[in-house]
Amino acid sequence: YRHGQAGEVVVRTPNELVHFGEHHPVVLIAGPCAVESEAAIVATAKRIKAAGAKFLRGGAYKPRTSPYSFQGHGESALEMLAIARQESGLGIITEVMDTADVSRIAQVADILQVGARNMQNFALLKKVGAQDKPVMLKRGPSATIDEWLMAAEYILAGGNPNVILCERGIRSFDRQYTRNMLDLSAVPVLRSLTHLPITIDPSHGTGKSELVPMMAKGAIAVGADALMIEVHPNPAKALSDGPQSLTPEQFEQLTTELAAIGQTL
Ligand code: PEP
Ligand code: MN
Repeated sequence: YRHGQAGEVVVRTPNELVHFGEHHPVVLIAGPCAVESEAAIVATAKRIKAAGAKFLRGGAYKPRTSPYSFQGHGESALEMLAIARQESGLGIITEVMDTADVSRIAQVADILQVGARNMQNFALLKKVGAQDKPVMLKRGPSATIDEWLMAAEYILAGGNPNVILCERGIRSFDRQYTRNMLDLSAVPVLRSLTHLPITIDPSHGTGKSELVPMMAKGAIAVGADALMIEVHPNPAKALSDGPQSLTPEQFEQLTTELAAIGQTL
């Protein structure tokens, strides 16, 4: 992996520089699957910030399996994220699905998310490689580790060294009890192959909120550099991914438990 550099990614947020890497505290990223309203995203941002999160996540453009499902509020959601960023001081991470949206999203986001379904969208990888915001590259639902690293290589080869990997579960044969199979072994495996920081997303990785806290703790045990966790003020009413979303109270409880076992705060 030719473009390898020192093993950390430093992200500038409104209030501070946040370091992703082996020798830094575990970075907490939290927020709803999708940005739904200004009031909800601002309130969620403040709650997760108080609990120790450094980044607010929330989709403006959602990659939905069905074209009839909620697709995200688009441009107006980007404006809500910009307000939440200003009001909370948190960094923003949001997904980019289309090369045409990269420069607009980069005006709001501190990290651009490339979703699992676009891991091998090479035009998109080249585009985010040619701009200067850090990129979180999620593992494709059926991508091997080498395919994932080669996808990261597209971004690095384009001149952007700030790539963070995110394991979010891979497709397996039993979807009755878990939505995906969260591959925690990816963390130590990647550690031996790349300098790139590694995030675990136990929300998409399990699909079930009751499994999220335990897998988040497992992620810290295996050495993850960051956690990305879906948090929604009322999961039962969420427009997407409610069943895997924690309430703000559950997230607060989890951060207390994580602080006791790892260096999250
Ligand atoms: C998300 O983070 O909400 C998302 C769509 O994730 P993934 O691309 O991993 O499915
Ligand atoms: Mn989601």
